[in-house]
Amino acid sequence: MIVTHFQFNHFGQNTYVVHDAETLQCAIIDPGCFFEQEKQELKSHILSNNLQLEAIIYTHCHLDHVFGAAYIKKEFPNVVTYAHKEENFFIQDAIGQGLRFGISMEQPPPINKFISDGGIIEIGLSKLYAIHVPGHSNGSLCFYNAEKSIVFVGDVLFAGSVGRSDLPGGNHELLIQGITSKLLVLPEQTIVYSGHGPSTTIGEEKRSNPFLQ
Ligand SMILES: [Zn+2]
Ligand SMILES: [Zn+2]
Repeated sequence: MIVTHFQFNHFGQNTYVVHDAETLQCAIIDPGCFFEQEKQELKSHILSNNLQLEAIIYTHCHLDHVFGAAYIKKEFPNVVTYAHKEENFFIQDAIGQGLRFGISMEQPPPINKFISDGGIIEIGLSKLYAIHVPGHSNGSLCFYNAEKSIVFVGDVLFAGSVGRSDLPGGNHELLIQGITSKLLVLPEQTIVYSGHGPSTTIGEEKRSNPFLQ
């Protein structure tokens, strides 16, 4: 599994494209492209590498993680969208979320497949294993690829910090409990790809994240 990183939109959100090196099948994790240039950048990455886009996978559906979904669905109509069912509310309320920030956006496509804790999404020969860690949002999922020792955590965990829990559905205790029992148990060398900011490792956060001591 090969990871390509983009930083998009007003919120400095991290969008990831993961592809299988053998089959060239790929998925977008949290399509946050908003501005025209960002949309073109994401699309041209897929086309110029001859990738075959199979899926949009949401760690969660706060607006900064779904901005580009309508565009991607238009450009790649066969794409299948995956999220936890608790995130459905945010998809349905996407335009409302945007208006609260003074941002007008297109309605994202509906979630096609609900995924929950322990679910597996296959991208070519690569597998992403879903880990449910609520507390930032009710349906926050992390996606772990054991073979490459990487985990996509959305806004659950950041380098030196953890997700906000003051938004609807947020719960700080639940968040810390989930991170501790489900993420910090991964191998220490596991690379953590967050929804914002730089990547880190499980070992580094275990040792130095002030919220997890
Ligand atoms: Zn969020
Ligand atoms: Zn975010």
